[in-house]
Amino acid sequence: MKAARVREAGKIVIEEVPVPKLGEKDVLIKVHRVGVCGTDAGVYHGYVSAKLPVTLGHEYSGTIAKLGSPSLGGFKEGDPVTASGGWSCGTCEFCEKGTPQYCKSRSSLGRTVDGCMAEYVKTDYRIVYPLPQGVSFDEGANFLNIANVVRAYKKVPLQLGKKVVVFGAGNIGLIMLQMLRATGASEVVVVDAIDFRLDLAKQLGASGVVNVIRGKPVERILQLFPGGADMVVEATGNPLAFQNACDVVKEGGALVVIGIFSKKITELDLSFLYNKEATIYGSKGGGEGYRDALQLLKEKRLNITSMITHRFPLEETEKAFRTFDDKGSNALRVLIEPTA
Ligand SMILES: [Zn+2]
Ligand SMILES: [Zn+2]
Repeated sequence: MKAARVREAGKIVIEEVPVPKLGEKDVLIKVHRVGVCGTDAGVYHGYVSAKLPVTLGHEYSGTIAKLGSPSLGGFKEGDPVTASGGWSCGTCEFCEKGTPQYCKSRSSLGRTVDGCMAEYVKTDYRIVYPLPQGVSFDEGANFLNIANVVRAYKKVPLQLGKKVVVFGAGNIGLIMLQMLRATGASEVVVVDAIDFRLDLAKQLGASGVVNVIRGKPVERILQLFPGGADMVVEATGNPLAFQNACDVVKEGGALVVIGIFSKKITELDLSFLYNKEATIYGSKGGGEGYRDALQLLKEKRLNITSMITHRFPLEETEKAFRTFDDKGSNALRVLIEPTA
């Protein structure tokens, strides 16, 4: 089978590799759609640690091709499915405590084990979920991100009637925007540096948008929310955005960090923690959000397809990543289609 692999940072090669052999608890999934995500880009460029060589990719949908043992997980060949991006060891302190996202022996697709930017991917059956009827492969490939957003969303209770600022109008930020609107946040302001994304944010329900490039984002957010925001979501991973996020949170408000910071924050004014008694939450992974994500997709509560801007065949995986990285390409959700 064909697979898009990284042997050395900065280069993706399409290689012919054997179809993975299954253990008793494994399933083989024929991959139809894979999303390109910042973590994959980090493995490609070398700033996210990975065991090279590795097949990229961890956000996908497909159909069951083969089961490691008869009727494993109740699945049968041809079932449309999606899956989590990895599995934890199940026996360490964190796994036993029910916090597998901290597991140090986690198998992560596209990083420590071969991922899904290939015609087939092998995975543990326990992290595979049937796609509900009516949910497309395009939507299913975003399952993991929706689950991550659900988990982050739940950190702060009662968004009903609240004013929220979302930093970052990428895939995660726009899913968060839609979830907030669907569940009763009164106004959501979205902040980004790319107009195309902010236009999409407006279409998806943002009550206001702020382009940071036009200057003074904090002032402009505070013009829209004079008292500050009840909840601020940081979905950029950009150190500069983090200070802005701290500066617009309201007294007693909450900041939820879902972006992954790859650069250090060299200077930060933390006086708001005392003055405003704000709470900062981190959120990692989708754990408790998996079932809810499938439910939201089934009920058509999220517009996932409007965020898809580009599609590439597996052979053009490197081009897909270059498009994803290119700020001028107006890329948002970039999909790779290994098989029809
Ligand atoms: Zn991802
Ligand atoms: Zn573990």
